Amino acid sequence: MGVRARLDEIGDIGRDPVRGGYSRHLLDDADLALRDWFRRSAESLGLFVEQDGNANLWAWWGEPGMDAVATGSHLDSVPGGGAYDGPLGVASALEAVARLQAEGFRPTRPIAVVVFAEEEGSRFGLPCLGSRLMVGASDPADVRARADREGVTFDQAWTAAGLDPSTIGPDPERLGRLGAFIELHVEQGVDLEDRGMPLATASAIIPHGRWRLTVDGEGNHAGTTPMVARHDPIVALAEVVLAARDTAVAAGRGARATVGRLAVTPNGTNVIASRAEAWLDIRAGADDDVRTLLADTLARAEELVAAEGCTLTVAEESFSSIVAFDAGLTERIGGILGGVPAIPTGAGHDAGILAPSVPTAMIFVRNPTGVSHAPGEGARDEDCEAGAAALADTLRELAS
Ligand SMILES: [Zn+2]
Repeated sequence: MGVRARLDEIGDIGRDPVRGGYSRHLLDDADLALRDWFRRSAESLGLFVEQDGNANLWAWWGEPGMDAVATGSHLDSVPGGGAYDGPLGVASALEAVARLQAEGFRPTRPIAVVVFAEEEGSRFGLPCLGSRLMVGASDPADVRARADREGVTFDQAWTAAGLDPSTIGPDPERLGRLGAFIELHVEQGVDLEDRGMPLATASAIIPHGRWRLTVDGEGNHAGTTPMVARHDPIVALAEVVLAARDTAVAAGRGARATVGRLAVTPNGTNVIASRAEAWLDIRAGADDDVRTLLADTLARAEELVAAEGCTLTVAEESFSSIVAFDAGLTERIGGILGGVPAIPTGAGHDAGILAPSVPTAMIFVRNPTGVSHAPGEGARDEDCEAGAAALADTLRELAS
């Protein structure tokens, strides 16, 4: 039926009327509807669908046995995200299976299409939640202690969806069944558009981390408190945001520092805030570069916050070291695709979490705008179909 038609089937699920684009977060109504869509789509291809203890969905072509070739991505989004980040990989995987079935292909290794839970970390703050739990990279107790922005705990959300939170955690048995994992994903930059090429493989995911910066000051009246008597955490934090930007610019070599999320207490128009929080995202070419950029930023932040008479608390929410994908598998796929470039990416993926445990590779599909995590994200119809055809070629080669 084609990748575009599959994406069109979910085109109305989880639209965000305020931000534009899509807001699809773990186990919310949109996510549950997408999971239903995946189940129905996979079952219509004769696949056997199961949900593991970490809410990842697996659709099996053939018996769920050893040395399986898995492909897939995620269906959740960032707030106000695009239509392709995640769903393109899932729709392409289903389409690749459909193409192989139509040509009468019979796999000699099991093929699995997987949907990983909460890849974006938009609800519980842990990117790649489902894959991290599966490989044992996150502590289940830590995950269960998390809450979303509305204060709904992980356990409450899980239970409300009819799931048992005590089942989350490492799944070595399932992991051991995987012989390869290939994630197809829309490119999150303009490298392919600049090269005039529709597809690439991924060489590596550059390291990245997330930190929560909490600045505590003194809440007070906006009208009666003299300017010199204030300890305003928003003013302090504003300077910290600029310092983060300037430190990354000075570091060069592709370093990136971003504050894209803020929270203010009590968040009143005529109130000097008592607390301001920012989430700092840092990426750079090497683990040490990320740590150095963080240290430099925080050293400056301490001074700026102290100068405002406020205090700074820093909590690390996640850190992902550099991930190199399986060179042999990547080269093999590059050959199957007729010689495509292997490009590094600054975005995290479930493929990066699986890579240390399973031979893993990625296929990128050209994004004409280069925009990602925003409604402007794009992919041309012909490139989407080329991606599914490439994935089908890869599965045929690996599973026969
Ligand atoms: Zn993604």
